[in-house]
Amino acid sequence: MSEPLHLVLVGGGHAMLPSLAHAREWTDAGINVTLIDPQRWLYYSGMVPEHLGGVYAVDDIRIDLRRMARKAGATHVAARATALDPETRVVTTGEGKTIPYDVLAIDVGGVNPALPDAAVGTKPIHRVRALRPHLNQVLDAPTETLGLTIVGGGAAGVEVGLNITGRFVGARRAADLSLTVVEQSGKILPGFPEGMRAYASRLLRERGAAIRTATTVDAVHGTDADGTQVDMRTDTGEHDTVHPDAVLWSTGAVAPPLLRESGLSTDDRGFLHVTRRLRTPTHPRIFAAGDCGTIPELDLDKVGVHAVKQGPDLRANLDTTLRRLAEDGSAPVASDLTAFRPYPVAPLLLSTGARRAIWTAGPLWTARSGFLRLKHWIDRRWIQRYAPEQWGAVGWRSLMGAEAASNPDVTE
Ligand SMILES: Cc1cc2nc3c(=O)[nH]c(=O)nc-3n(C[C@H](O)[C@H](O)[C@H](O)COP(=O)(O)OP(=O)(O)OC[C@H]3O[C@@H](n4cnc5c(N)ncnc54)[C@H](O)[C@@H]3O)c2cc1C
Repeated sequence: MSEPLHLVLVGGGHAMLPSLAHAREWTDAGINVTLIDPQRWLYYSGMVPEHLGGVYAVDDIRIDLRRMARKAGATHVAARATALDPETRVVTTGEGKTIPYDVLAIDVGGVNPALPDAAVGTKPIHRVRALRPHLNQVLDAPTETLGLTIVGGGAAGVEVGLNITGRFVGARRAADLSLTVVEQSGKILPGFPEGMRAYASRLLRERGAAIRTATTVDAVHGTDADGTQVDMRTDTGEHDTVHPDAVLWSTGAVAPPLLRESGLSTDDRGFLHVTRRLRTPTHPRIFAAGDCGTIPELDLDKVGVHAVKQGPDLRANLDTTLRRLAEDGSAPVASDLTAFRPYPVAPLLLSTGARRAIWTAGPLWTARSGFLRLKHWIDRRWIQRYAPEQWGAVGWRSLMGAEAASNPDVTE
């Protein structure tokens, strides 16, 4: 009798969830499935800003990867993959364990470039939670204050800033928060519509936040006396040092070194080349999806919208590959696999820490309470799919009731 096939999933990110949810069918068919991820929980990035804003409790926004694996009859190896060998078909973990595979799917996301030890990272997303105790400690104690520097004024940094300022305003503690957004380029939200940028800037400033554009953070040091020291410099060469209590590092993603070190083809940032079939061009048994993959002809932004949309295609292509290998030992040709079709323009919904969300797609944008309801409905429905104990039944009717629980006192 031949050995059972072994499917190894490296990284249980947003794009991997449909495969993990489907894995029971593979294990029932006698295929061994292993998930390698050091984290037990995947935090849904769309809900993290509102978690920091006090809208959602931690259990509302996370998915238990270990439990999903167990339910599927798969093995969860709680370790970091440190090496991928595409020739011998082996994954090595940080503990030195070697795990052979027949088919490999990679969804390890990106990492923050140059993340200083003294800063809280945003990639992988679970790191952001380290900020929450700072917020709770201050909000629970009327005499405490919080100094927070957010490095990076892109969509993630701004959405987090809006939610945290909204929460302090809602708690009538705006004076106890000193929040600064530092952005390297000349404007926050680079690449987004001008009006949306002006709207978000106005909200932040009205709530007491400072925005420093054309400013680069050179170093962040942890200090015993002052919490954290942030050294920055403006484009005109002026240097400044601030001492916030916490620093959130929300700069764009770079690739984990593991990908380039595997010898597989990568782009110049180190993200894995994949075709529209989410398969590496050279190794037909290796797939990648989400932020860690790059489809050269599409050159997509590293956002969860694409990762989530790729999830079902990844699952379908793994399924086809496993079936073909079981049938005749060969990998399927490209035309037998599902091609990923991205949104023509990726839509984005950003919560504002008040009763509205900003909707944007390409040059268009608007901010409406209806979009916050829509965002809550979409987010809850998504979580509920993988954590059915959460949110009960999120049917279309709940769209009407899924209004902002957050900060009703915050005006816009
Ligand atoms: C605050 C914030 C808000 C955001 N909001 C939005 C939004 O509203 N909409 C949107 O489209 N995008 C949003 N994003 C971007 C979004 O988070 C990412 O694009 C998305 O998480 C990418 O998903 P992924 O599947 O590539 O991997 P991820 O979801 O990042 O998951 C990667 C997984 O791989 C694991 N892993 C990492 N390294 C290894 C390793 N070596 N071995 C094994 N496992 C490993 C990690 O533990 C993690 O579980 C936001 C980002 C931030 C920071």
